[in-house]
Amino acid sequence: MCMVSDAAAISANDLGAVQAALRKFIPDIEVLDAACHDWCTDQFSKGGWMVHRPGHMTGAAPQIRRPHGRIYFAGSDIATLTLGSIEGNSPPPTPSIFKIKK
Ligand SMILES: Cc1cc2nc3c(=O)[nH]c(=O)nc-3n(C[C@H](O)[C@H](O)[C@H](O)COP(=O)(O)OP(=O)(O)OC[C@H]3O[C@@H](n4cnc5c(N)ncnc54)[C@H](O)[C@@H]3O)c2cc1C
Repeated sequence: MCMVSDAAAISANDLGAVQAALRKFIPDIEVLDAACHDWCTDQFSKGGWMVHRPGHMTGAAPQIRRPHGRIYFAGSDIATLTLGSIEGNSPPPTPSIFKIKK
């Protein structure tokens, strides 16, 4: 599986281009078929997973994690570990969850 940030950079229908790109990593690879999906134009996802800019994880994310009164923010986008993934939305990487009182 490969991911590109610019969908216009390569077409999965152009097997020659896909093979040329992959041969930079695996020189003798032979591409027989390829398929792709543009998550940015997908009506349900409207984009991919969260990717922080340099500095956000150490600067902005800790600020967002702080509770504001009784309002707590949690979730994969601001997790301390495995952010931007399904694992990131589970409690351990989001310490604020433990501070919420019933
Ligand atoms: C295309 C794509 C592919 C991905 N592939 C992978 C993968 O292969 N592996 C992996 O680990 N992760 C993957 N991820 C990332 C993963 O899906 C997310 O990081 C994870 O689902 C985030 O979980 P979450 O609970 O923090 O947030 P979400 O799952 O986004 O949940 C937030 C919820 O809040 C709801 N909501 C929003 N606003 C409001 C509101 N105002 N009031 C009430 N509800 C609201 C939303 O409808 C949503 O249900 C992918 C993500 C995308 C988009």
